Amino acid sequence: MKPFLKSLMSLVRITCLLLFTTLAVAGAGKKVESLRFWTAPDHTRLVFGTTAPVSHKVFTLDNPPRLVLDMSDVKFDTSLPSFSSSHKVLGLMRQATRNKKDLRVVIDLKTAVKAKSFSLKPNTNYGHRLVIDLYPKQAKSSNKTSVIKKSVSSAKNNKWIVAIDAGHGGEDPGARGHRGTREKVVVLAIAKKLAALVNKQPNMKAYLVRTGDYYIGLRKRMEKARKARADLFVSIHADAFKDQRARGSSVYVLSNRGASSEAARWLANSENAADLVGGVSLDDKDDMLASVLLDLSQNATEDASATVAGEVLKNLRGVGHVHKKQVQRAGFMVLKSPDIPSILIETAFISNRQEEAKLRTSSHQNKVAAAILKGVKRYFSKQRLPASPSIRTAKVTYKIRRGDTLSGIAQKHRVSLTSLKKANSMKSSRIKVGQVIQIPS
Ligand SMILES: [Zn+2]
Repeated sequence: MKPFLKSLMSLVRITCLLLFTTLAVAGAGKKVESLRFWTAPDHTRLVFGTTAPVSHKVFTLDNPPRLVLDMSDVKFDTSLPSFSSSHKVLGLMRQATRNKKDLRVVIDLKTAVKAKSFSLKPNTNYGHRLVIDLYPKQAKSSNKTSVIKKSVSSAKNNKWIVAIDAGHGGEDPGARGHRGTREKVVVLAIAKKLAALVNKQPNMKAYLVRTGDYYIGLRKRMEKARKARADLFVSIHADAFKDQRARGSSVYVLSNRGASSEAARWLANSENAADLVGGVSLDDKDDMLASVLLDLSQNATEDASATVAGEVLKNLRGVGHVHKKQVQRAGFMVLKSPDIPSILIETAFISNRQEEAKLRTSSHQNKVAAAILKGVKRYFSKQRLPASPSIRTAKVTYKIRRGDTLSGIAQKHRVSLTSLKKANSMKSSRIKVGQVIQIPS
């Protein structure tokens, strides 16, 4: 080969190489780099971690049921998770490239589902995410509800119901200790131990708001407690602070002050804003931003919350350090339940090495649970067990008549328009004749 031709050939080769490299870089723009799934009792959540926000389309197919997820201009750069063969919803999963640049993921389903998808922005734990929630379709959902209601009312049987809420879960790990201890794990362990202790009491019954490693929206947690007819709501967390020396437990109740400004903030958000925080690691202090106003007239519940918080704090003093000697007041969203006295316990600082080590041990978890129980028992011992819980929780409904306005109905029943809308998950004041609405107490 002539030297000239030779150099020309190598030039072409280099150019080709450069071209390919450029193409490869352009194609590497968007990737699915992780894939996780979380199983909650009522839904399954799939989380695709991506290198950038992706446009997508999700749909289901019947016979056999399948879920199809199409993502534009995305490469699959991770491994497929393996679902247990006994998983109630998910079957085999596969992925393929379409049109040379798009990605299609197909999952065999064991039951027909309703799919809901949304994107999450990066936070301290994760990057961009595409979340797909799968809700099994139930043919006889009305039947199922009545069965649940029945079991709840028979469980009530003049027992105090304590809703125990383990903070965080699933996509939201909460705070993390130096040894990698995750808040969501230790608080669930404490919550389960507390539930076992509560259930040993002849006059008490526990309701675990979260039973496994999955995320529950903050508003959903309150709804679940209310559905279980809880008499008390106890949210369990572990604190974190940049100063590793911070230590000890704290007990919080809702602060009424600031509630109105939070309401304003909430109303500025869209209705499903709370859903969208699903999986975002919310620093507990930031919950205020996502708060929802339920009602401002919650003084009675606030006093009860303060009483039980004081009793619990007194008993936590015997277990270890107490971070703040007084019950703290803050606008935590999970505490915004106007009809159920609610407290939030920061059991210890997971960011403190000694306390992190303690939080991991079963014996310390038991001590914390026992202390909380003592406080709760003391609180209930001063309360009169309501004779008929069903009367207390009976719902007032109203059927819309011609000429009615929502504000008129609110006025007549002496409730605020906001709480009336909230009770009926209404976005506007539009009503229809014949429509039945709930009147909040
Ligand atoms: Zn927390």
